[in-house]
Amino acid sequence: MEIAVSRNILARNEALAEGNRARLADKSVFALDVLASPGAGKTTTILATIAALRERYRIAVIEGDIASKVDAEKVKEHGIPAVQINTGGACHLEADMISRAFDALPLDDLDLVIIENVGNLVCPTEFDLGQGARIVVLSVPEGDDKPLKYPGIFAMAEAVLLNKVDAAGFFDFDEAAFTDSVRRLNGTAPIFRMSAKTGEGVADWAEWLAARIEAFRAG
Ligand code: MG
Ligand code: ZN
Repeated sequence: MEIAVSRNILARNEALAEGNRARLADKSVFALDVLASPGAGKTTTILATIAALRERYRIAVIEGDIASKVDAEKVKEHGIPAVQINTGGACHLEADMISRAFDALPLDDLDLVIIENVGNLVCPTEFDLGQGARIVVLSVPEGDDKPLKYPGIFAMAEAVLLNKVDAAGFFDFDEAAFTDSVRRLNGTAPIFRMSAKTGEGVADWAEWLAARIEAFRAG
């Protein structure tokens, strides 16, 4: 019975996600869904990405959190439109929440919407939001074994961002083992070594995203 209910929820979400996808296509807005654990540096990574691309694209952010609006406030301080979604305890975003966030954004005047999903590597993978691409951010302090523990997201991600590489000297992070684990799960996603804090590696990641946006616009 529980499985049947869950399938209904997912089927309903999928239909709403397709609606979001059609709306984004109609407005020529690319949506990026960013997944990570709490503390991986999602918001800092998003801000670094905005800094790299804001001359080229009109950007807005949807911030998903269980509670609070601190991340949306941080984004707004940089002059970027941001909508906060508080999930009221739910540990992932769903397509209907994104649809309502779109209602609050000037989609006609945007090229890119970055969605910061709730900090969680498990159930967000089950809920399509209608995004153009989904990526995962993993930070060095979390350990090189994360892909083994959370294979679903590493298999699905279209790019893997290894954040906080500036802190590598303080942690026992085996980068070759990490890369190998990702490759076993995912043969195609590029792995970007970066530090959102220092800016190292951000340009390469931003160029990949820009290429995805251009491909989306070209249809
Ligand atoms: Mg955040
Ligand atoms: Zn959840």
